[in-house]
Amino acid sequence: GSLSLIVSFGEMLIDFVPTVSGVSLAEAPGFLKAPGGAPANVAIAVTRLGGKAAFVGKLGDDEFGHMLAGILKENGVSGDGINFDKGARTALAFVTLRADGEREFMFYRNPSADMLLTPEELNLDLIRSAKVFHYGSISLIVEPCRSAHMKAMQVAKDAGALLSYDPNLRLPLWPSAEEAREQIMSIWDKADIIKVSDVELEFLTGSNKIDDETALTLWHPNLKLLLVTLGEKGCNYYTKNFRGSVAAFHVKTVDTTGAGDSFVGALLCKIVDDQAILEDERRLKEVLRFACACGAITTTKKGAIPALPTESEVLNLIKG
Ligand code: ADP
Repeated sequence: GSLSLIVSFGEMLIDFVPTVSGVSLAEAPGFLKAPGGAPANVAIAVTRLGGKAAFVGKLGDDEFGHMLAGILKENGVSGDGINFDKGARTALAFVTLRADGEREFMFYRNPSADMLLTPEELNLDLIRSAKVFHYGSISLIVEPCRSAHMKAMQVAKDAGALLSYDPNLRLPLWPSAEEAREQIMSIWDKADIIKVSDVELEFLTGSNKIDDETALTLWHPNLKLLLVTLGEKGCNYYTKNFRGSVAAFHVKTVDTTGAGDSFVGALLCKIVDDQAILEDERRLKEVLRFACACGAITTTKKGAIPALPTESEVLNLIKG
């Protein structure tokens, strides 16, 4: 399509996922190498739907880094914002598929290349050309990546981009919950759009009530859209003038990895060239239905990237 550019900032890594559930990687009979990293998933979600996306981040100059850069390229994501670190290796995540269907992560980040992106390495022209800038790096806390994150965000904002934030909370990566909360809140009021999961809502507010009152404690005056995603219960949305919810689609879920990223990618793709949608409840609801359908389809296949849908798959699910 002729959509404007969406830039997604953060990490791309490889998830080593056991081929069976209920065991750690060490106990698994085998494993899959699944490319992941929420910001990279979002970029590919956008291009799979026919939109235009670039990924900004750093990879190791190793077999994994080049494999990941190849996957972005195959999927039509611009690699103009990718740097390769000569020394550090690409981040890796080792996944445990718990019997209850949840995933636990252990990370190789020692430090990994993504944590070493410096502000000087940013492709500022690329970032300035973004209509939407999406971020949510798990390396928010570590330097120099933190400074790179801040600079990229500011440059995008100054150039007039809409800023979209997904905290992608991965607690084991932070020294303490308090620090995680602080870091996340330190960039909270820069965002125009924020998407949190029910788990993140609970973590950030300290309340276990997933309701409007709780969600609205996270509101900030410059925010245009706050989204709380609820897995198989769909999502709640909040704007200055209206709020409501959108139901999820019923599908045969096999792996929820990437559902949130798919949801975000779909939303951004639909609003990048028509931001007035954010102020029109009827149209916004339609877009969120589309995003929920994207999220749902993403749960019907193993892995995130292989499961991200095309526009026609989404329309088929919506038509029923
Ligand atoms: P995250 O991955 O960030 O936790 P969710 O799991 O809530 O986000 O997924 C995002 C969206 O994807 C949800 O709002 C919902 O519309 C859709 N989705 C997620 N899981 C399912 C599911 N099991 N069945 C149907 N839709 C789902």
